[in-house]
Amino acid sequence: MNRADPLPATAPAPFIAVRRNPRLTKLRCIRCAGEYPLQDMPAGCPHCAALGSPASLEAVYDEFPQTLATASSAYKWGEWLPYTEGISLGEGDTPCLDLPKLARELGMRQLTVKHEGMNPTGSHKDRMSAQGVSRALDVGARTVVLASSGNAAVSAAAYCAAAGLQCEIATYRDMPAPFARALNHLGARRIAFDQGVERWGYVRQQVEREGAFALTNYSIPAVGSPVFGVEGYRAVALEIVASGCLPDHLLVPTARGDLLWGIYSGLRDLLAAGLLERMPKLWAVEPFPRLSRVLAGASLQAEFPGQTAQFSIAGSTVTLQQQLAVQQSGGGALVVSDAEAAQGVARLGAHGFWVELCAGACYSALQRLREQGQVGPSQHALLVLTAKGDRDPFNPIA
Ligand SMILES: [Zn+2]
Repeated sequence: MNRADPLPATAPAPFIAVRRNPRLTKLRCIRCAGEYPLQDMPAGCPHCAALGSPASLEAVYDEFPQTLATASSAYKWGEWLPYTEGISLGEGDTPCLDLPKLARELGMRQLTVKHEGMNPTGSHKDRMSAQGVSRALDVGARTVVLASSGNAAVSAAAYCAAAGLQCEIATYRDMPAPFARALNHLGARRIAFDQGVERWGYVRQQVEREGAFALTNYSIPAVGSPVFGVEGYRAVALEIVASGCLPDHLLVPTARGDLLWGIYSGLRDLLAAGLLERMPKLWAVEPFPRLSRVLAGASLQAEFPGQTAQFSIAGSTVTLQQQLAVQQSGGGALVVSDAEAAQGVARLGAHGFWVELCAGACYSALQRLREQGQVGPSQHALLVLTAKGDRDPFNPIA
């Protein structure tokens, strides 16, 4: 079901101000550039889907601010995002920290970490939840539904609780206990399945039959998560540039590439607006070969099964958005095993960071890029530490 704007329906709860960005004008397919009026199209571009090449939509804004000076509202970067006001638990503005000792160990000029674990529920997903749940309020939805077994689930549950919306999570039966506890605490409804495809079927059913608002993708072959949520990740790029720590290389743990695309899209628009001198190379860090195989010639629509303890970036699909983000920035994909990721977690731990396993993989990926000479001694790299490690059941125990 596509929900057209504006909706006549139920007004958002009056105690939460939701304001759509007046500069947001339409949606555009990232593959065919086909344009659509503002509406909810969780399965992406229907034209490309009909051709067997599903693709995400992105938001189109008619202009951007001329500077990176910002307002003081909770939605500091709202003029670059779909919503300039909406539900907030204090997400964003995460620390960008230089680690000179680790940079020296790696034999490179500068190493920075962007610590997304400092978001309210401990992961970068809060940026998607803030914009996505604001969208749900704006269109009068009463229920938000998503497929997740980890950070996205906890984040959506928190933002739905704050917004007064029902939250339904299609998850796996063996969801790690710390996440299940958090969902219970936050009042979300859990529906457990054995297979990923069953979870997506449930999300589709709730959207099509019940009018629920989808926060994650549910179509196969996969596209990214719905546009109004993914756009929230653009703020990561704005914060990196505004804090003056623009790197030569930017490494991001990646499953479907929502975060990677959001960062790319933000940097691309900053470049076009003359607020950025050059595009850093974006690197997708993955637990087994998926995007790596697509970049080597495999079909984007193929299945890439694999087992990993890096559960935040598990999954068997590749999306166009992650392929475009690395290709158009001149970066690539790096496969990091669970054992290598655990070494990365330990290395970051020795410097005071407790991060989830896939965030540790980022460090190990950088180490490899240095060894291969793809990152030079005079260069600067930034690692996106996607979430805290204290609830990750797969982190190593010494
Ligand atoms: Zn298209």
